[in-house]
Amino acid sequence: MKQLVAAGMLLALNGAHAATQTVDCGRLLDVKSGTWRERVSIVIEDGTIKSIGPTTPGAGHIDLSKQSCLPGLIDMHVHLTGETAPAVEAYRDRLTADPADLAYRSVKYAERTLMAGFTTVRDLGAEQALNVSLKRAIAAGAIPGPRMFTAGKSIATTGGHADPTNNLSHFLGEAIGTPGPSEGVIDSPEGGRQAVRARYKEGADLIKITATGGVLSQAPNGQNSQYTEDELRAIVSTAKDYGFRVAAHAHGAEGMKRALRAGVDSIEHGTLMDDETVALFKKTGHWYVPTISAGRYVADKAKDPSYYSALVRPKAAAIGPQLQATFARAHKAGVKIAFGTDAGVFPHGENAKEFGYMVEAGMSPIDAIRAATVNAAALLDQPQRLGMVAPGFAADIVAVEGDPLRDVKLLEQVKFVMKDGVVYKKL
Ligand SMILES: [Zn+2]
Repeated sequence: MKQLVAAGMLLALNGAHAATQTVDCGRLLDVKSGTWRERVSIVIEDGTIKSIGPTTPGAGHIDLSKQSCLPGLIDMHVHLTGETAPAVEAYRDRLTADPADLAYRSVKYAERTLMAGFTTVRDLGAEQALNVSLKRAIAAGAIPGPRMFTAGKSIATTGGHADPTNNLSHFLGEAIGTPGPSEGVIDSPEGGRQAVRARYKEGADLIKITATGGVLSQAPNGQNSQYTEDELRAIVSTAKDYGFRVAAHAHGAEGMKRALRAGVDSIEHGTLMDDETVALFKKTGHWYVPTISAGRYVADKAKDPSYYSALVRPKAAAIGPQLQATFARAHKAGVKIAFGTDAGVFPHGENAKEFGYMVEAGMSPIDAIRAATVNAAALLDQPQRLGMVAPGFAADIVAVEGDPLRDVKLLEQVKFVMKDGVVYKKL
């Protein structure tokens, strides 16, 4: 089996998937109907699923006959080029770490994410477009990692949640200079249009905006509206010109409403959504990406007085504990939900804990799995290629022992991972 992995890596490095392969599954989840199909063989050609039929044992098949197979999992909100650290380390990094330092570190974050069964992610923001470079390295087969859709640099307003120069000393601020649309900071509709075009130039696949204040930025307000509605409309309409979807970080209700009215495709976090916001979600049909994992993690770390800065700690304590209840209300009200964690705010590779939090808050295991497969694929605009194990789809297959429809936490122990027909984790 070791050889299989080595051969797989070689195929990945060459960017080719010449071989026809067959995977024998003890059972395979039909995500749409929510039922298991017993004893199937999946035939894969050139990284794409060709056919699925009753098991036909044969030499050289990948034997998952004692396993439950599912489509590769999809996380709609990660930051693969960074990971949580105590404030003192994070500040030191800002003074001493080069982009290359951050890039090398991200290699293991990407690998951990893939090995946890997440074959596709949406990376919602990084400095210097490091996430675009990481995506290229993974796509070229240079390093193992999930298939990435990236936002490049998040777009913010001056002092907003993704302004990289928040709360720096005057000395550093002067040295760095005032960021503009190229660096993802805008203060007008025209700036918004420029910033979207700069993301196109830097190689992004979609647009991320920070519609309200946030928890981990060095700024006092974690929920205020940070864009005017005409700025939001300029961003969304320009994004459409380039085929970009728009993801909006938002905690406060007013910022969420403005973003939804302007036509963003997803709201991330959504912590303080009120009834009017829920109604607007339902009317527009836009997606909610909850990131309960991040909420729980920051709430926990806020209890440690040395972990976050004095500006961040009270926001983490106030916002973090509310996310799971917000998710429960949104789900009950019938808001469309796609799975997302904000990994990076907590250690990469622990993405699957989100399933347990979703089920704990009242969602059925199959709906939680749908959020991380077919729903995520719909939000990515990849409904014919990702999110299902079916002919014509990318050969992204994971396997677990036991029945995750009975115990969703089994998804925290993925035993087998295939992406694009290449085996990255073997039994
Ligand atoms: Zn995030």
